[in-house]
Amino acid sequence: MIIDADTIVAIATPPGKGGVGIVRVSGSQAAEIANKILGKLPASRQACFSKFVHSDGCVIDEGIALYFKSPNSFTGEDVLELQGHGGPVVLDLIVKSILQHGPRIAQPGEFSQRAFLNNKLDLAQAEAIADLIDAGSEHAAIAAQKSLQGVFSAQINELVEHLTELRIYVEAAIDFPDEEVDFLSDDKVTLSLAAISKKIKQIKKQAQQGCLMREGMTVVLAGQPNVGKSSLLNCLSGKDSAIVTAVPGTTRDVLINEINIDGLPVHIVDTAGLHESDDIVEQEGMRRAWEQIENADQILLVIDDVLGVRANDHALLSSFPKSIPVTIIHNKIDLSKKQEKLIERDDISAIYLSATQEIGIDKLRQHLKNIIGFKSDTESVFTARRRHLDALESASDYIESGSNQLQVYQAGELLAEDLRQAQRALSEITGEITADDLLGKIFSSFCIGK
Ligand code: GDP
Repeated sequence: MIIDADTIVAIATPPGKGGVGIVRVSGSQAAEIANKILGKLPASRQACFSKFVHSDGCVIDEGIALYFKSPNSFTGEDVLELQGHGGPVVLDLIVKSILQHGPRIAQPGEFSQRAFLNNKLDLAQAEAIADLIDAGSEHAAIAAQKSLQGVFSAQINELVEHLTELRIYVEAAIDFPDEEVDFLSDDKVTLSLAAISKKIKQIKKQAQQGCLMREGMTVVLAGQPNVGKSSLLNCLSGKDSAIVTAVPGTTRDVLINEINIDGLPVHIVDTAGLHESDDIVEQEGMRRAWEQIENADQILLVIDDVLGVRANDHALLSSFPKSIPVTIIHNKIDLSKKQEKLIERDDISAIYLSATQEIGIDKLRQHLKNIIGFKSDTESVFTARRRHLDALESASDYIESGSNQLQVYQAGELLAEDLRQAQRALSEITGEITADDLLGKIFSSFCIGK
């Protein structure tokens, strides 16, 4: 069923100048607008060269027009695409001419939202479009493409199907109480619950990788002045972003560089040296440094290995939030004459390296991937978002609770309710069941014209 909505228009290509710029129209007025602007309706799905004419008869541009008759279009509605010259003024003129005939400007993501509402895509696929456009690495783009092709959704749908079968079985047994005892002692339910739980865990693992590829990790470089934090930032990012001098207190503000380790986006944050200071600029720098530390996925406490771990470093270690893992970076091993080394431990790891001599940096890169459990292979990875992980987690909790209801309390009805909730949580991923405000939130983060 195609939802009857008003006609929308937007420039679909990015702002700025380019060879070609595309204006997109979607809705029931698309054919009428084609007739007004082009003087004809192009055959559906056939490129047609035409002049684009304003209502006063003035030719504003010429280019390719494409008409897609509903339901065979991206949105599922009648769609008109005008490919004109890619200049901001000419594209604005085309949009203005179209607006004269009744449509309104599209909201961000509204074309994709209509595609979703018209069942052209499910929600996870629609989100993958935004992820593909935003992809910061080839790995992330391949993963987003997999989700767009429906790899993630297919796994969720399979799970939902499995859950539905189990619900039918459980609910039928509840409806025939005489048989309920048999069903409760039946292995079928226990085995199905175990299989579903295993499958959710496996999908969640893949989704976590997909989420990491999208969001990456935030690593904060902390430590006393002059230990080599800025040198390490420059070395990891391969450019001289931070000023490096032998003068303590050079870095006074927060500096963030984006790097990519085999497809894992890493946001490296260099901070002001953490020490006692009366300088108000330095104090503000330190306040900002602590703000970054609180929000980090990983803290790298950099020390000068010639001086070793000092009392101040111990004080910093005990002040860091307990929930954030810390690695001690023993920098300047070229001066302390130590070998490069990585010691990975559950509590505090250590790496011996030299930022300026670029010794041991690969060990640090490997360590960052290990900490967050990132695997570089793109084979089994699809893009995923935090909300998908939350939904999988919630489904997993309901399955666990359902198993408990069955095994401990022999409570068939409570098991049935948990299964229903698990199914609802999974359906939120593909958007089969989704609250309107969530939809609004998801699509409003898209770019205009998508
Ligand atoms: P920050 O204040 O902690 O950001 O430290 P910087 O990165 O500004 O470095 C302070 C000084 O230590 C500079 O003179 C750097 O050249 C020097 N430095 C940093 N890392 C190394 C290293 O691995 N080996 C040597 N020999 N010097 C280093």
